[in-house]
Amino acid sequence: MELGSKSLRKVAVVGRGTAGSLAAAAVSRLHPDPDHELHHIYDSRIPTLGVGEGTWPSLLPYLEQLTNLSDETIQRSVNGTRKYGLAFEGWGVRNRNFIHSFVPEKVSYGYHLSADLMGELLRKSANARHIDAKVLDIAKVDGGALVEFDGMPPERYDLVFDARGFPRELHPDRHINVPFIPTNTAIIRRCPAIVEEEGDGPVLQHTYTRSIARPHGWVAVIPLTTHTAYGYIFNRDISSPAEVEADFDALLEADGVAEFEPSAVIQFPNFIHRQIYDGTVCRIGNAAAFVEPLQATTIAAAQLQIGMILQTRLHRPVERLEHDTPAVNRFLVKNMVYYGLFVGWHYHRGSKFESAFWRHARDDAWPRHRDAAAPEIVDCDALQMFDEMLYLLKQSEVDKSNHNQAYGFSLGSFIQMSQGLG
Ligand SMILES: Cc1cc2nc3c(=O)[nH]c(=O)nc-3n(C[C@H](O)[C@H](O)[C@H](O)COP(=O)(O)OP(=O)(O)OC[C@H]3O[C@@H](n4cnc5c(N)ncnc54)[C@H](O)[C@@H]3O)c2cc1C
Repeated sequence: MELGSKSLRKVAVVGRGTAGSLAAAAVSRLHPDPDHELHHIYDSRIPTLGVGEGTWPSLLPYLEQLTNLSDETIQRSVNGTRKYGLAFEGWGVRNRNFIHSFVPEKVSYGYHLSADLMGELLRKSANARHIDAKVLDIAKVDGGALVEFDGMPPERYDLVFDARGFPRELHPDRHINVPFIPTNTAIIRRCPAIVEEEGDGPVLQHTYTRSIARPHGWVAVIPLTTHTAYGYIFNRDISSPAEVEADFDALLEADGVAEFEPSAVIQFPNFIHRQIYDGTVCRIGNAAAFVEPLQATTIAAAQLQIGMILQTRLHRPVERLEHDTPAVNRFLVKNMVYYGLFVGWHYHRGSKFESAFWRHARDDAWPRHRDAAAPEIVDCDALQMFDEMLYLLKQSEVDKSNHNQAYGFSLGSFIQMSQGLG
């Protein structure tokens, strides 16, 4: 049997947002054969999303591995601060503020970072031929994938990472709908920095992403060294942009923020692609799935998608590809459904606001999770894994081996959130 790397001679990454930039650097760094061919394809007329500034601790060693730079150098290059978790304000029934920390608490940290700068850093680490062209289609063909371009002949690749961002429309045959997450729009404002750089070194101050419950949804506050990003996440079918802007003004005033630059209004779908991976095409980042930004899941999920595909394609024999593909796809779909359930669950106790948004979130949206995530609908047992966490949560004593049993949101995360939400 031949190791898969021999069958990965020509690889394409389509898209140069966070997900595409991670994939291009990962292929360059992890492919054992330096003679492989990598095409990084993007349409420079289609902008990257540019948001995505909260990350998990798992990103740091990955960035060090991909860029060959130290933690400190990376942090400074991305205008980063050290994120030790999330600070919730006004969520749940206890009306108190609480922290969802990375574990070990006060030790483990990710970054708040500039997504654009991280993309630049990663692209410097990728050894790729750049192709600026619009991709019309990516189709699986015998033993590979065919990429069709606007104004250029098609090219055949052994593996294609599709990182073209959100799908234009959702189709029930291709996408799992996530109706139990009650938000679909973000208004972003860029405000002055609140952390101070100290000399030449990285900022060591402990920071948390603030997640502040508001009448129309919640607001994320992300401190970078150059500015502080505020994002108001709401449901445009329940609250008008004018109502949200007015409440946003009130929050900034209460926070003592005198000036801001309006930077974007972003509509987002909550969905999971049924076929994240088909053996030769791997959807990553926002092209694969999105479950609102509350727990900053997308970059972590992209890391997992890229890691699993490269691990299996490079190190497993090609003869195993047919057998591996459905298992890998099911694992990646399950992971995202599970993230979606964890994020949707944050709303199940409402907040200190008895507004139309919070009534909808608690009483209409969340109760739909059992039907939407039923195994026959999503073709995986993510709901069972989620239920097991709730079961463990109710036990008086839990074996330590259960603490880290789920990737990403372990029992420790459930315990912190359930105590905070009440
Ligand atoms: C409000 C909000 C807040 C968020 N916060 C976080 C967070 O804190 N943490 C986190 O992990 N994630 C967050 N996310 C998710 C974030 O968007 C992603 O982490 C990240 O931006 C990944 O984007 P992407 O690379 O998949 O796509 P994009 O950034 O949209 O990039 C798409 C790329 O594809 C190219 N492209 C598109 N179509 C074509 C085509 N036809 N031909 C050729 N090229 C094409 C474009 O040129 C572009 O280069 C947030 C999302 C939103 C909406």
